Amino acid sequence: MPTTIAQPFDARTDETLRTLDAGGQYKHLQTILSPMDAEIRMRTPEGKEVDVLCFCSNNYLGLANHPEVVEAGIEGLRKYGAGTASVRFICGTFEPHEQLEATIARYMGTESSYTFVSCWNATETLFPTFCEAGDMVISDALNHACIIDSIRLTSVIKKGVFKGVYKHSDLEHLETRLQEARDNADITGQIWVVTDGVFSMEGDIADLPGLRKLCDKYDAKLVVDDSHAHGVMGKTGRGTHEHYGMVPGGDAGLVDYFTGTLGKGLGGGAGGFLAGPKRGTELVIQRGRPTLFSNALPVTVACSANKAIEIVMREPERVQQLRDNVAYARERIGAAGFEILESPTAICPIIVGDTAKAIGMSKRLLELGVFVIGFGYPVVPEGTARLRIQMSAAHTTSHIDRLVDALKKL
Ligand SMILES: *Cc1c(COP(=O)(O)O)cnc(C)c1O
Repeated sequence: MPTTIAQPFDARTDETLRTLDAGGQYKHLQTILSPMDAEIRMRTPEGKEVDVLCFCSNNYLGLANHPEVVEAGIEGLRKYGAGTASVRFICGTFEPHEQLEATIARYMGTESSYTFVSCWNATETLFPTFCEAGDMVISDALNHACIIDSIRLTSVIKKGVFKGVYKHSDLEHLETRLQEARDNADITGQIWVVTDGVFSMEGDIADLPGLRKLCDKYDAKLVVDDSHAHGVMGKTGRGTHEHYGMVPGGDAGLVDYFTGTLGKGLGGGAGGFLAGPKRGTELVIQRGRPTLFSNALPVTVACSANKAIEIVMREPERVQQLRDNVAYARERIGAAGFEILESPTAICPIIVGDTAKAIGMSKRLLELGVFVIGFGYPVVPEGTARLRIQMSAAHTTSHIDRLVDALKKL
């Protein structure tokens, strides 16, 4: 008789970790020792403490360490304590949640909004809650993992929900899918089309007006996860919809439902939201499993996020500063001889091809005092490994010059 019980998990996990390490794909976490900002202090995997320029955070407007955002969180902590100790519908809805949700609705131009502990959570709640048998969800092939998982979860929780994928940003292919759906006698319910507003690896944006037209033609609803666009896209940083003039009072049509994050441009703390017509947010309050069975966004975080969005609306010049920084950086990086993908966003990917090369360049940049992450296979397709530079309104031209000088030394 064996003296020990075999533990398959332990053996296979050790093997997975060994394989990742051998293939140069092992992620070593780098620890930040200061607030998130243009300049940060970090501890390298080798244990050295260094001051570096940060060009890989989503702190697009530099609000993560804004004094008013910090102070709002401290005030919230003093007034309401550390947590809600409850889900929203029992006793976890605090005044700052209501204030934040009103602010988000005003910011997004929607009738209502509802917050979650993350955008992942918001998106994961949306489709399983909204869909019923006979519905179909059609998704862009490059959509964020939380959209993909939300759709997968939907087909487990609600039997009889159909799913389809269209080639990335290919409206013709989407129309084929929509026509197939209309020709399918089993699809008797709602058709949903879902896309990222900004795609994070390339920095390209979805053709929302084109999607709106197709959705109207086939009576489908349009859902947009615009996490990378808040504080970035549109004249006042509302998002990709504002970039296209798809705001109330305009004549370009509207997005039906948004999900978004509070963990990027809007203060960078944590939290996510659903924004759209009240019937959708009300349904989520009544039926959303993560909202019924999981804690509310911490009040301190809600207070900081609320202040961050107020600052975006009060100081749209921050969005312009970001745009100026992006234009300057793109011009300088291009002039230094690097191939940089076209993008109207704050994401500037430099394609280098080989994964090991991207990782090596990122390492060398860190030695030169510039923190930029290299992405390779399997996060992006083989042969398209890249350095993903992300700009912030917090960067100065001198920061950008130092980035370009470091790039030139590679
Ligand atoms: C970053 C991101 C998320 C995740 O947001 P969290 O609030 O951190 O969960 C979701 N969707 C998209 C498109 C994102 O870019």
